[in-house]
Amino acid sequence: MREMVPFRGTTVVKGWPERLAAAQHIATYAFRGQQLPRIRYGDETHDWGAQRGLLCHDCMAVAGEFHVPGCDVERCPKCEGQAMCCGCLDDDDESGAYLI
Ligand SMILES: [Zn+2]
Ligand SMILES: [Zn+2]
Repeated sequence: MREMVPFRGTTVVKGWPERLAAAQHIATYAFRGQQLPRIRYGDETHDWGAQRGLLCHDCMAVAGEFHVPGCDVERCPKCEGQAMCCGCLDDDDESGAYLI
């Protein structure tokens, strides 16, 4: 059982607020040497609740924040598929997104 901490009116795994804060410093993803800007929560074409003031259900971001890398809501800036699953990202990405 992992330790939980209160965060934004809910509870999250200990260390998650720090991961979310760190994610705000990752503004781009690398695609075959090309850097593309990440899609912030609320900018997705699908309505995930950001405009209604809801936290991202997966990573607890608020509207206008970047998702934690690996969040299942985050869209790929290249194909708008699910980031991390679509295969667009470089495997040897050195932005640190996979290291968090
Ligand atoms: Zn998220
Ligand atoms: Zn993609």
